[in-house]
Amino acid sequence: MRIHNFSAGPSVLPLSVLEKAAAEMLTHGHDGMSVMEMSHRSKAYQAIFDKTYERLASLLSLPKDYHILFMQGGATTQFAALPLNLLNGSGKADYVDTGSWSLAAIDEGRKYGDIAVAASSEDSDYTTIPDLKGQWWRPDADYVHLTSNNTIYGTAFDTFPDTGSVPLVADMSSDLLSRPIDVSKFGLIYAGAQKNAGCAGLTLVIVREDLLGMAHKLTPVMLDYKVQMKKGSMYNTPPTYAIYIAGLVYDWLHEQGDLAGIAAVNQKKAALLYNFLDQSTLFHARVEAPHRSLMNIPFMLPDELTEEKFLKEADQRGFANLKGHRSVGGMRASLYNALSFESVTQLVLFMADFEQRHL
Ligand SMILES: *Cc1c(COP(=O)(O)O)cnc(C)c1O
Repeated sequence: MRIHNFSAGPSVLPLSVLEKAAAEMLTHGHDGMSVMEMSHRSKAYQAIFDKTYERLASLLSLPKDYHILFMQGGATTQFAALPLNLLNGSGKADYVDTGSWSLAAIDEGRKYGDIAVAASSEDSDYTTIPDLKGQWWRPDADYVHLTSNNTIYGTAFDTFPDTGSVPLVADMSSDLLSRPIDVSKFGLIYAGAQKNAGCAGLTLVIVREDLLGMAHKLTPVMLDYKVQMKKGSMYNTPPTYAIYIAGLVYDWLHEQGDLAGIAAVNQKKAALLYNFLDQSTLFHARVEAPHRSLMNIPFMLPDELTEEKFLKEADQRGFANLKGHRSVGGMRASLYNALSFESVTQLVLFMADFEQRHL
């Protein structure tokens, strides 16, 4: 029996995607072999790759002058690939600090150049998104960087700043494909696929064409965006099966009414949980509107003993992975695309019942 999986990543996948993958495990269509067994240079595999690329481009309404790269190494590898490829003008880049993942990006970036923290929400213990008005970045910066959704702290950018001629770069690991975005506002977007855009092993990079071809000469060939673009993301063996699973996820998203369709469901799911938390006398949300993430919702109980009790009961009733990140404590429910409205409904009913018994 499948349980309600609130994992922050790797995370729940649509049931129909898993069923399709299971049905095609021994032989994919008329290809006579599983996708895992195909040569990445074969016609059969190229067809899977092309279909995945086209579907993703369509979901994103990808502008003509952008490329999608299917890479490996997770978002963490992009923390280095990004400065290696883009930090080669003034050697300066400005980062927005919204907690753990953005700080990891900053630390890695500092190995390669002059990285400044242009804005930070540290003062609020990362319960807010900094107010980005006026000229907060250096005009000669090679790029500015932000983390669109903060997986650990449960905050998210509602709108994105206009940084003029300085390319805006975003780590969208935990909210890419959860809502429509205007790709043309960004110079580059990257995301590990395992939160909301596929399974682990695949990393997506969406990059504007004019930012290609400036990589530092010591950039490993695997991390050179221009090389990956020219080779169709197949300079070497790509993560073939993870790309295939991603393709099934993108088809599923299309069936949900594309990104506008899934965004409406995501709004409803998050509203259900936040509304419960806001009226509860026992539970409370860690983050206040308008800084709230729709994807990752950290919440608290009055003391650690009650939290332990809640998590134990939740586990017994089939609500998995609700323990908060160790740096925040409490609980965290991740409501990614593939987590059903029904799972959130069941969770809220359970929380209401728990509250009744513990007031
Ligand atoms: C999970 C996550 C990362 C790290 O991703 P990996 O693919 O494991 O390297 C980076 N940034 C954000 C926002 C994340 O949620």
